[in-house]
Amino acid sequence: MEWEPVIGLEIHVQLLTRSKIFSGASTAYGAPPNTQACAIDLGMPGTLPVLNEAAVRLAVKFGLAVEAEIARRSVFARKNYFYPDLPKGYQISQYELPVVGKGHLTIHLDGREKRIGITRAHLEEDAGKSLHEDFHGLTGIDLNRAGTPLLEIVSEPDLRSPEEAVAYMKKLHQLVVWLGISDGNMQEGSFRCDANVSVRPKGETKFGTRTEIKNVNSFRFVERAIQFEIERQIQVLESGGTVVQETRLYDAERDETRPMRTKEEAFDYRYFPDPDLLPLVIGEDFIEQVRRELPELPEARYHRFIEQYGLKPYDAEVLTATRPLSDYFEAVVREAACDPKLCANWVMVELSGALNRAGLEIDRSPVSAERLAGLLRRIADGTISGKIAKQVFELMWDSGKDADTLIEEKGLKQITDAGAIEKIIDEILEANPKQVAQYRAGKEKLFGFFVGQVMKATQGKANPQQVNALLKEKLQGGG
Ligand code: ADP
Ligand code: MG
Repeated sequence: MEWEPVIGLEIHVQLLTRSKIFSGASTAYGAPPNTQACAIDLGMPGTLPVLNEAAVRLAVKFGLAVEAEIARRSVFARKNYFYPDLPKGYQISQYELPVVGKGHLTIHLDGREKRIGITRAHLEEDAGKSLHEDFHGLTGIDLNRAGTPLLEIVSEPDLRSPEEAVAYMKKLHQLVVWLGISDGNMQEGSFRCDANVSVRPKGETKFGTRTEIKNVNSFRFVERAIQFEIERQIQVLESGGTVVQETRLYDAERDETRPMRTKEEAFDYRYFPDPDLLPLVIGEDFIEQVRRELPELPEARYHRFIEQYGLKPYDAEVLTATRPLSDYFEAVVREAACDPKLCANWVMVELSGALNRAGLEIDRSPVSAERLAGLLRRIADGTISGKIAKQVFELMWDSGKDADTLIEEKGLKQITDAGAIEKIIDEILEANPKQVAQYRAGKEKLFGFFVGQVMKATQGKANPQQVNALLKEKLQGGG
């Protein structure tokens, strides 16, 4: 029997606000434990939460970016459960009326596009953190993270393979970072994923029983965890068993998922509207204001790059991976005013390679877009060859000087004077009579040898097209 996986993701995105969602305490990462949790975050009796407008703004921005309905009225609810890192005994979340309704996101995979439904996105507060290291037989609690604003983004069960799930996750990550609503830092937990997985016989329209894999925090692990879970469920079903609806944990070291607890149902949480918070009412003017702040989105820019610059889809994808990278590329095209494909190649290969080797982000690049454009203009107008340009680029990277200065200083101008090239060719043919004879007797692959000699004699500066043409002429001429 053939099986079809069905996957839906719940992704928690930490919003980039300076203070918490219901208090004025700082959200900065890495402070000593419990120095950034105030009475409200601790749930002290008599304190009242006050909603942070910045968090709402970021949630609405996300909603507009995925073309979702923005709820004009949404409600905060208490989700009740006990855990040591949750001193209030409940988490403030949204349940029946989330701020962001149905939307969608398009993923690209193996040259095809697929639209993935977004069910909802709601605002909620994060809990604290349990610390197990440094405490012998005890658990420490750090409440700095308590009250940090999160946007939980729930997808429809539209994903059909681990690869699609990862493509969706990456697309969502790209979008929230692009919008500036999250730093997306996965090591610090700013972007965490719960994966819901089930399988069904191919052709079946009803969904199978799902399990939920909690808190997987890397793209690679999400893919592996889902893959493992699919295989496990198939094995259970094929040996006559049934899949138990439960929450599982992924163990990266053993590359397997393990049961954590039976799946809780919504009614276990005794959700009810938080009496301390008024319903959140969002006006048209607020929404319009956020809409005006929206940048061009990655998907739109991707299509524009293909149409406007004639880029291949793959190149457009790479060059729109991040906003700073795509901005850089467009600045190069604008300044260089030469073939966009040449610009694309240089940004993707030479520049990105150098940045990678140096471990630098593009906004710290020692070679600015304007400087790179200056170099590409010299390739386009024939002053230097593409090969010499690579040398110049390295010199630019190290020295901070511009291309024209370096070409002048190092005498790297291409030799295009036919007379000068001819003279060098004559000398080389004269110095290598044996090879000339062999070539003329039919050993044509010696042509490369002659080209090499000319390039060596000119330190790579002779115009390659001219060298080829003149060499052919002379060698065939029998002179
Ligand atoms: P809960 O609130 O219990 O987590 P939801 O109905 O909100 O459950 O669904 C949570 C996630 O599970 C969503 O992303 C949804 O797409 C996904 N999901 C629901 N049913 C299935 C299923 N049978 N197989 C795989 N994923 C599912
Ligand atoms: Mg859930």
